[in-house]
Amino acid sequence: MKPRLQIIEDDPQMRRFLRNALSESGYDVHESETAQRGLAEAAAQRSDIILLDLGLPDLDGLEVVRRLRSWTSTPIIVISARGQEESKVAALDLGADDYLVKPFGTSELLARIRAAWRHANRGAAVGKTVGGHGVVINVELRRVTRDGAEVHLTPTEFRLLAELARNSGRVLTHRHLLREVWGPSHAGDAHYLRLYMGQLRAKLERDATDPQLLLTEQGVGYRLNADLST
Ligand code: CA
Repeated sequence: MKPRLQIIEDDPQMRRFLRNALSESGYDVHESETAQRGLAEAAAQRSDIILLDLGLPDLDGLEVVRRLRSWTSTPIIVISARGQEESKVAALDLGADDYLVKPFGTSELLARIRAAWRHANRGAAVGKTVGGHGVVINVELRRVTRDGAEVHLTPTEFRLLAELARNSGRVLTHRHLLREVWGPSHAGDAHYLRLYMGQLRAKLERDATDPQLLLTEQGVGYRLNADLST
């Protein structure tokens, strides 16, 4: 069955771009022009993924995220002209799954949709490994290799990498990572995260000064640039 995508976006040109790009890639696309219609149609149609603009005429997109999250866990990818870090963190903290700043290209859009879709269906991926840039990670077996050689990680390094691997391709906020890896009382301890991310990069990246796998989302968090490997 084709995954159903709902686009909540008031700009007709942007809707046309999304409709063309996504229909060609095999998605069943549905469009809503306002926040209110988007909310009503999301409830009526149960899409698999929602693409949401923040600058809507009748209601701010952040409020739409909040309302959707009160009843559904359907992945939400924000598509917005607002590139500020605060706006991204606010959307992600409210429960959006990812954030794309306009303008963006088709391949980036499709990669984000695949990552959100994979995460929503992660039950199907149990036992699989994720990999990219010479690194292969099997979270269940606690096994990490780089160019075929086993990499030794400390327990904390592994917990951090495992959280990123379970969400591979998705951005995770500093707050999310601190809470999941160090616990809720450490949400403000961003220096832990910087320290351990540096250690992971030293062990996993071919060039730690130019990371390809453990990507920084400036002011927001980190993203593991990896895909399911077979
Ligand atoms: Ca708009």
